[in-house]
Amino acid sequence: MAHYLNYIGGQWLNADTHIDVINPASGQLYATIASATINDADKAMAAARQCVNSGELNDIRPAMRAHWMLNAAQAIRDIADEGALELCRENGKSLQDAKDEFLESARYFEYYAGMADKLEGTSIPLGKDYIDFTQYVPMGVSVQIVPWNFPVSICARSLAPALAAGNAVVIKSPEISPVGMVYLIRALENCGFPKGSINLLCGKGSVIGNHLVEHAEVNQIVFTGSVPTGQHILKASAARATPSVMELGGKSAAIVLHDADLQNVVCSVRSGIFFNAGQVCSAMSRLLVHKSRYTEVKDAVVKMAESLLIGSGEEQADLTPVVSKAQQISVMAMIEQAKKEGAKIITGGYIPDMPGYFVAPTIIEATPEMTIAQEEVFGPVLVVMPFDTDTEAVAIANGTDFGLVAGVFGEGLNHVFNVAQQLRGGQVFVNEWFAGGIETPFGGVGLSGFGREKGQEAIYSYVQTRNIAIRLH
Ligand code: NAP
Repeated sequence: MAHYLNYIGGQWLNADTHIDVINPASGQLYATIASATINDADKAMAAARQCVNSGELNDIRPAMRAHWMLNAAQAIRDIADEGALELCRENGKSLQDAKDEFLESARYFEYYAGMADKLEGTSIPLGKDYIDFTQYVPMGVSVQIVPWNFPVSICARSLAPALAAGNAVVIKSPEISPVGMVYLIRALENCGFPKGSINLLCGKGSVIGNHLVEHAEVNQIVFTGSVPTGQHILKASAARATPSVMELGGKSAAIVLHDADLQNVVCSVRSGIFFNAGQVCSAMSRLLVHKSRYTEVKDAVVKMAESLLIGSGEEQADLTPVVSKAQQISVMAMIEQAKKEGAKIITGGYIPDMPGYFVAPTIIEATPEMTIAQEEVFGPVLVVMPFDTDTEAVAIANGTDFGLVAGVFGEGLNHVFNVAQQLRGGQVFVNEWFAGGIETPFGGVGLSGFGREKGQEAIYSYVQTRNIAIRLH
């Protein structure tokens, strides 16, 4: 059985204890990884600080960083097949989706390589006695805490712009699903990045993660994960007023207008809630349908859900397992709670009779205030409900504490645009769930967090603005 290590100051290091990695499609132990200690975390922070102080990453011509990043994009593509197999086995996701994570990671490096040498400042006229200019300078040491649902691509999403901007990075991988990230970081080893610029630790979030966010050397925190952990980190980092990016959960709604294309809606629901077994922050977890189309859309969506092939990621099944026993228990508990509150299970709502941590594709009819329609499930569970007017649909869609994404389906441009403009969220999808890409800014409002990842805007999350005003003579 493979055993994986932590990467600190350019070296792969073991630890006295390890974390078990379980294959969720079988429930069997699949690999182990060294469990980083507080001492390892201190070493990683010291290595990152030393890298910053050396200037080898931040005081060089930015075009050199761009060159390393392009090397990295190629190196990631070279190991994509190998890494995808490991990610599929440790995480449960389909082999193709696992490979897509590596290919998306390569794109992040390519995309932000293009920005490394374009962080241009401005000059502000202050009269003949002054020269004034504004620069974008790196933050310093960026601590990045990654969740298990897309560990490789989320890691690259934050790592690539941070490196492009000249920051050294200490990454904390999730206890569940840390192996794919080891493959990602191995790929970056010989691309030119100086020692200490990239460090990877696997360890308990409540111990190592907590230590990193409170560390005296941290200059920035990028957290992607759940709301309670994000809130905890915000409190822990308040003592140093550490700038942070918070990419948290969601309870996103799609609104189906009276003239929406049925096939397009069904296709979007399929990926929107069943991709990655619904363990997606921007999952379409609520479907609001105009009453004139409600029965037709609901029946078509149920038919699609019941036709999905449930199985392992290696079999390229339509619906793969959730990531762990704990996640399966948590999803089932929310379904039971929905029943208690009077929601109607239209299909699914049970654990299929097979090894591994599966949950049947589930569709629930609920009312807007029920827990199942308010809280993130993070599993293959869709809530459907009818609406009468646009005002009602927008009120339901915006009526949670979250605000990550939202969507509208319909044919009339004016109508769709009018509804889209009223939706609360960092990204609004029209006529395709998950529309956009690594080029489009992503992030939330409300309990979904703040700061933006992806797109050109994200790089400004990884720099500080410094103005220099010079009085002449
Ligand atoms: P989580 O339990 O909050 O864990 C996320 C990361 O935080 C893990 O690496 C975890 O380590 C670490 N952590 C836990 N306690 C910590 C502490 N006290 N201090 C510092 N770090 C700590 O979230 P998850 O279950 O992995 O991920 C699912 C959540 O992430 C969902 O809510 C989902 O919506 C959200 N998410 C958001 C986005 C986005 O872009 N907005 C993307 C993906 C996922 P351990 O693994 O050791 O616990």
